[in-house]
Amino acid sequence: MRQSQLFTKTAKEPPKDEFSFNAQILIRAGFIDKLFAGVYTILPLGFKVLKKIENIIREEINNIGGQEIYMPALHPIANYKKTGRDKIDVLYYTKLKNGSELVLGQSHEEIIVPLMQKFILSYKDLPKMVYQFQTKFRNELRAKSGILRGREFSMKDLYSFHKNEEDLNEYYKMAQKAYFKIFKRCGLLDLTYLTYASGGTFSKFSHEYQTITEAGEDLIYICDKCEIAINKKIIKEQSACPFCQNKKLREAKAIEVGNIFKLGNRFSHPFGFQYTAEDGSKKDVVMGCYGIGLGRTMGAITEVHHDKNGIIWPEEVAPFVASLLKIKSKNAMPAGRQEKVKNIDKISDKIYTDLQDNGVEVLYDDRDVSVGEKFADADLIGCPYRIVVSAKTLMKNCVEVKRRGSDKEELININEIINKISNY
Ligand code: ATP
Ligand code: MG
Repeated sequence: MRQSQLFTKTAKEPPKDEFSFNAQILIRAGFIDKLFAGVYTILPLGFKVLKKIENIIREEINNIGGQEIYMPALHPIANYKKTGRDKIDVLYYTKLKNGSELVLGQSHEEIIVPLMQKFILSYKDLPKMVYQFQTKFRNELRAKSGILRGREFSMKDLYSFHKNEEDLNEYYKMAQKAYFKIFKRCGLLDLTYLTYASGGTFSKFSHEYQTITEAGEDLIYICDKCEIAINKKIIKEQSACPFCQNKKLREAKAIEVGNIFKLGNRFSHPFGFQYTAEDGSKKDVVMGCYGIGLGRTMGAITEVHHDKNGIIWPEEVAPFVASLLKIKSKNAMPAGRQEKVKNIDKISDKIYTDLQDNGVEVLYDDRDVSVGEKFADADLIGCPYRIVVSAKTLMKNCVEVKRRGSDKEELININEIINKISNY
């Protein structure tokens, strides 16, 4: 994309009413805009990142048998009365003109259960795994963590349906692995711990994926031997590592980027969602649920991957692989260089189209702004590679390539740049 066409602009200062680092930097760099606390517009650069996170999740969840659907956000309150969740504190309430009471979806157990009940009748229909990417509405009391805690946010929610606990347990293990793959691809693996949390009434534990960051709202206790953690909320019952009984746990602030939960019949039972077993008896369908917040993941990435100049996107989730900077210095220069400057537009344009033709996504800074501004913006936006085309580099028939976050610059012949970048 040509940066001259991008309608957003970067800002030197974050808005005065934004206190969280993730939202400050994403607003400054033009990825999101704040409407009010906990509610943000996703701008073109942010949209690209969120779609990449979404596609990573989609691939990994499809790999473990997930079937994608899209459920409504308007829910009849009657469904919540069945499960006793009609008064939970995060619900937004609304009404139809005829007076029927509705809530805005904060999660979709109450919708997916009656949906699947129409199709799952016998043991032959099980197991099934169904997921969606949907906006959730939660009237969060504290919305001070930027996009880590939105009042409206996008979530991947997967639900699995099984004939018994053993089958659920088996799938649950597959989901755990898929989650690690997702967080690896999002550049969060090194700081993300499988964390034991309360399992509610059905199982001893649920599991959270907690990413260590000072911005985190949770406290976790890490067992460095087993590379797992325990959430503070259950540390009293579980004062040692559940695997090695190690009591020397390391405390850290962390944010829950995902969680997985064995629901058992917590939601199937109130709806009378049963299947006919092999022996002809009726049994409750056993369920699991698995969430990941998309915005929270994007926010966590910025909290973890940045320096004083801006964001440092992991490659798979970066809005573009490279920023291409066309530098037309207005300073006096030797005659040889002046010659080169004449062709700089043509050469830069060609590198831009060649890179794109070879599948490299490029943000082409073709704007008529100062050199300093171009460099500052490239760092702030944080694409993994910065390619500079200037009279100086063209004197050597080269462009200058630098990886974001490193200070090593490399001169690469313009004929080799396509090969180099597409093979990095
Ligand atoms: P938390 O304890 O942080 O409030 P939760 O237990 O309410 O999270 P779930 O309801 O299980 O979370 O939601 C699944 C995932 O959705 C979470 O792991 C997180 O990634 C994301 N999520 C939850 N609440 C928010 C929010 N307010 N804003 C952004 N993402 C959220
Ligand atoms: Mg919550």
